[in-house]
Amino acid sequence: MALTSLTEIEVDSLKGVGPKLKEKLAKLRIENLQDLLFHLPLRYEDRTKVKPLIETRDGERAMIRVTVQHSQVQYGKRRTLICRAFDQTASIDFRFFHFMAAQQKKLQAGVELYAFGEVRRFGRSLQMVHPEITYLGANQAAPLLDSLTPIYPTTEGLHQASWRNLQKQALVYLTKHPVKDLLPPELIDKWQLMGINEALLWLHQPPKHTAIEDLSSDQSPAIKRLIYEELLAQQLSMQLQRQRFQQDSAFVMRNKGELVQKLLALLPFKPTKAQRRVVSEISQDLQSNRPMLRLLQGDVGAGKTLVAALCALQAIESGFQVALMAPTEILAEQHLNSFKAWCDSLEIELAFLVGKLKAAQRRESLAAIQSGQAQLVIGTHALFQEEVAYHKLGLAIIDEQHRFGVKQRLALKNKAPENKQLHQLMMTATPIPRTLAMTAYADMDLSIIDELPPGRTPVKTIAISEQKRDQVMQRMEDACLHEKRQVYWVCTLIEESEEIQSQAAETTANLLAEQLPNCRIGLIHGRLKSEQKQMVMQQFKNGRLDILVATTVIEVGVDVPNASLMIIENPERLGLAQLHQLRGRVGRGSVESHCLLLYGHPLSDNAKSRIQIMRETNDGFQIAEEDLRLRGPGEFLGTRQTGEMALQFADIVKNSALIPEIQTVAKAMISQNPKLAQSLCKRWLGYRHELGDV
Ligand code: ADP
Ligand code: MG
Repeated sequence: MALTSLTEIEVDSLKGVGPKLKEKLAKLRIENLQDLLFHLPLRYEDRTKVKPLIETRDGERAMIRVTVQHSQVQYGKRRTLICRAFDQTASIDFRFFHFMAAQQKKLQAGVELYAFGEVRRFGRSLQMVHPEITYLGANQAAPLLDSLTPIYPTTEGLHQASWRNLQKQALVYLTKHPVKDLLPPELIDKWQLMGINEALLWLHQPPKHTAIEDLSSDQSPAIKRLIYEELLAQQLSMQLQRQRFQQDSAFVMRNKGELVQKLLALLPFKPTKAQRRVVSEISQDLQSNRPMLRLLQGDVGAGKTLVAALCALQAIESGFQVALMAPTEILAEQHLNSFKAWCDSLEIELAFLVGKLKAAQRRESLAAIQSGQAQLVIGTHALFQEEVAYHKLGLAIIDEQHRFGVKQRLALKNKAPENKQLHQLMMTATPIPRTLAMTAYADMDLSIIDELPPGRTPVKTIAISEQKRDQVMQRMEDACLHEKRQVYWVCTLIEESEEIQSQAAETTANLLAEQLPNCRIGLIHGRLKSEQKQMVMQQFKNGRLDILVATTVIEVGVDVPNASLMIIENPERLGLAQLHQLRGRVGRGSVESHCLLLYGHPLSDNAKSRIQIMRETNDGFQIAEEDLRLRGPGEFLGTRQTGEMALQFADIVKNSALIPEIQTVAKAMISQNPKLAQSLCKRWLGYRHELGDV
């Protein structure tokens, strides 16, 4: 039987693949030879030539040729064999933590050898830990290769040698059974791309004398080909996901808008033009039976809560329940407080659900949610746990969660009545740069509040060295005692552990209490019980505390207009987006607010630029663009970074110029050739799974 496709040849037809290896490969979703060939090298190693020691860079994996000077075993904490060797340009120390006596014997003065490994530079001295060694004995050929060595992403127990062996065999099949080129010829022409077979061959087996730089540059034709195909597949997949999401219908929420009018009449202010615009965008979505999937972006303080309230009222007036989810209990409580006043006046029933509720309260909330008595439900992730049954949920609003992944969104579907999809509104104060919005968020519609309510004075940001802490103390005292303003003191720590963070905040609070005995100081951190947190927050809100010492738990959403001074300790530890979020806690009233960045020494260049940007601008979008430039897209993607969005060849930032066109092509392909669109997604997304590096 003539085989037509590599997808029909299973991996175990290769030599050396038994049931065990087959299973390992299956875990990487590699079942057939085409899967295997799309498992492409992460990077390459250059074993084609010897590098003089002096030319090696820190962290580079290089082949060197050296002569042993001496070797000895050191008995410290760990028994270590150290071997000093040199070439004509410099000397290097090899370190072996596991070694046999025979090995030590071989490494005698005067012995010549090739070593391959990672070069570490410590000042002027060079080191290589556990190099691979080939002795230059009389009969041994030099271990130099003709072409670059590919290094594959792998999992435990699967060595690079096995990958190379498998790929080598697969490439032989490839020449007989080329894989199907899924890109239509007109696109290949238009974008001037290399054929897929040629590109695969080139990447697995780079031609002789290819330079390592050419293999990682997106100018290389093989990589260019894959960048285009990958970006297209990614666009297709986002658009298809959206299509799938919109297969089920949602409830139509059309009404007179009486509740909305009533709320507007209650407010002491008028919505801004931007708020009105986004409310009308959302409102139109809610009037359609096509499920809404919309991301509302608005800088800190832009007034997203009011937008959420107005949209919730549209759903409630149509007889549906609304769930409003906040990322933390503090924020959920704050929303509860704002909404309580409104709901009381509008005679709307409210329920509250967070993890730490007492059993009786919890039962009460669950019952109200299930019976439909609760029209608006506010809470944390607890809202979407399995045991929460809604009577007729129509709209879910997710606050400060642009990282809400596709998986989590799918879980929401279970909360909608059968065969229905929820309308979903995500809100975020972290602006998403345009290029990212077009890729990672291509499955959502965007609304942007690009205007702050009137009467805000921009926050002044000042960088000040830790060594001038005394001045800061003075300033805080003035603010609290003379100006009757309130102050946030934010402790940052690199430690992930909430416990350690909380302890550090406690220490700081005690220290401040000693130094500023006349100020009333409160403390809030992640380890406090929910009631305690709420109490402290309430005290600060009511002006019964002057200074609030906090970990970054206050990052999002907290609103205390009288707080006009914020000190961020060691701001260099935080990213721009996070600093911007924190700073947004001040500048909420009419007096001028200040943010002091109390930095430590020494500052890295990157930290310096971040602090500089913070001083220069209050514009969240500009800050986001800079953050993307300085730190890459990881921070903006969150869960999207893995699985859904892991791009191997394309770089959303560097290749952003390609995206608008590819997006258009993807749209056309889905409507004209949906089968092809599916095949491209399958080819590309089946193989990407949180693979570890080698
Ligand atoms: P965020 O977008 O950061 O969630 P909030 O919704 O917490 O912002 O709003 C910040 C503050 O601005 C709140 O005190 C809110 O009452 C107030 N606010 C919202 N909209 C307006 C407006 N149109 N005019 C004046 N103040 C407003
Ligand atoms: Mg908010």
